[in-house]
Amino acid sequence: MKIGVPKEIKNNENRVGMTPAGVFELTKRNHIVYIQTRAGFGSGFFDEDYQEAGAVILNSIEEVYASSDMIVKVKEPIQEEYRLIKPNQVVFTYFHFASSEPLTKAMVESDAICIAYETVEGSDGSLPLLIPMSEVAGRMSIQQGAKYLEKPIKGRGVLLGGVPGVPPGKVLVLGAGIVGIQAAKMAAGLGAHVTIMDINMKQLRYVNDVMPNHVVTEFSNEYNIRKRIKEADLIVGGVLIKGAKAPKLITKDMLKEMRPGTVIVDVAVDQGGCFETTKATTHEDPTYVIDDVVHYCVANMPGAVPYTSTVALTNVTLPYIIKLANEGWEKACENNIPLSKGLNIVKGQIVYKEIAEAFNWET
Ligand code: NAD
Repeated sequence: MKIGVPKEIKNNENRVGMTPAGVFELTKRNHIVYIQTRAGFGSGFFDEDYQEAGAVILNSIEEVYASSDMIVKVKEPIQEEYRLIKPNQVVFTYFHFASSEPLTKAMVESDAICIAYETVEGSDGSLPLLIPMSEVAGRMSIQQGAKYLEKPIKGRGVLLGGVPGVPPGKVLVLGAGIVGIQAAKMAAGLGAHVTIMDINMKQLRYVNDVMPNHVVTEFSNEYNIRKRIKEADLIVGGVLIKGAKAPKLITKDMLKEMRPGTVIVDVAVDQGGCFETTKATTHEDPTYVIDDVVHYCVANMPGAVPYTSTVALTNVTLPYIIKLANEGWEKACENNIPLSKGLNIVKGQIVYKEIAEAFNWET
């Protein structure tokens, strides 16, 4: 199969859909991989790296789309790319269709086969192509939180790990899923005192089993949250209720109970946020202050660490790409239930019910 990897053209997107390791695995299996020149530059991969792994470098995005049976990328196509997608071409990427009617219409009209990373689903309901980005965001939440606790950027002026003779900072993590566990692990690694809350006892039991003693689990309810926010230096929001908006666990009135300079990092911002005062921010201007509480609410946190994010993402997409290339999309989806759940739009038909429902369309 001919597989094309275009350079991402969405603003500030430095990730790329395939690393040289992916090219190596595919060319080894006699597939042809076209990489647009400088596609990997933002993630630290150069044309020569791809060439050495067996790729053919093409000069323009038009050539990549025109030459390929399957396009592998990271972000949903943006308007400039709509016209490049051909009938029967497989496009394997994050789409998040429900959040964009124009994109959905354009992909229906393209007659392409759109397989969305975010809906590939394991038999246990897990979303294997979303997990790595939650892992990145969870770990980053502490790195960012620790930075914004510094006084010159309006934080409380607390070093999370403390020093001999000075107790460490206190971190409250809401949600003990992928984001929450990675955040707790990073905070614990820095030596902070960590409380992690969830409503799912199975998750709390797991955390309690695997984390060191300075990570304490507590059941998530308003009473406990109100008690802990008074003493926290850094609060991380990592809750998710599948298919719904995030619950507002910290309301505006609660900000007054926090100490000035407390930092709150709302990783769940992409689902509306779990703090009432959350509004999405960008890497250019990541924070704002309300009632002396520093809010960090960047909706695409992994975008700031494109090398790590690209490698983490492509580690999990590559096995599916190999299946699609070896078997063709129809057989690959027939033989692999998780991959078949990724089918969103097939040759003009919406095949993922929730997308049609999002726009009240009939399928
Ligand atoms: P997850 O499903 O693994 O974990 C969510 C956890 O929240 C679950 O354990 C669930 O039981 C818990 N929860 C639900 N209601 C709760 C409540 N009232 N109190 C405490 N815990 C509660 O999800 P995840 O992969 O960790 O993702 C968390 C959020 O982070 C999602 O909204 C995801 O989209 C988002 N995310 C954002 C970025 C970003 O860049 N901002 C990146 C990746 C993921």
